[in-house]
Amino acid sequence: SKGNGDTKGKTYTVATDSNFKPFEYLNTKTGELEGFDVDLIKEIAKRAGYEVEFETMDFDGLLAGMQGGRYEIGIAGMSITPEREETLDFSIPYYDSGIILMVPTDSDIESIDDVDGKKIGSRQGSTSESFLGKNTEAQVEAYPEIVTAYMNLANGKLDGVLYDVPNVQYYIAQEGKGKLKTTGEILQGESYGIAFKKGSELVDPSNEALESMIKDGTYAEIYEKYFGE
Ligand code: GLN
Repeated sequence: SKGNGDTKGKTYTVATDSNFKPFEYLNTKTGELEGFDVDLIKEIAKRAGYEVEFETMDFDGLLAGMQGGRYEIGIAGMSITPEREETLDFSIPYYDSGIILMVPTDSDIESIDDVDGKKIGSRQGSTSESFLGKNTEAQVEAYPEIVTAYMNLANGKLDGVLYDVPNVQYYIAQEGKGKLKTTGEILQGESYGIAFKKGSELVDPSNEALESMIKDGTYAEIYEKYFGE
């Protein structure tokens, strides 16, 4: 199906993360919101026949706003979890991710088994924050913005940060070369999905659009733009 007449040509507000590189972030030179997720949802909307406008916010605010029914669509490198699926619908998975520890290059932390009693930073509302609470005795410091954790790690106020692999790798490549590194295994595999209001009529047409983008190489082009060498 291509959705019913009610969704065609309509404009929806897409709730997105204020800073989750390279999935969504403000280009400081142009002031424009850009990133993998932004290109993805724009093309999905175009193919499915609806319009989007973006609203940026902290990730925990986004979760609350989606769960409160304030937004029809949310895209923010959001991991599909059984808990979230109770209150939200998700698209088919569009990116394979996971979470990993980042530490200073001279750290004695080698894996998640070494974090008990250590100060480990994370992000409020994230799968990493809940992983730390459930599986470790670390002193968890979770912030609205992950960049605060990264800065505190660089300043020695934290012993490590646990967060999404692609964002951690991006940060190390851009700002942390020679100072910060990942350590240990990827701790849990996660898949990102686009979130929709439960029962949204946009789910099926959006999935069809995403599938057509995977088939015709458009997904690969967008991937190359943000993750290519
Ligand atoms: N993937 C993580 C989660 O869903 C973090 C997402 C984010 O911070 N934007 O919890």
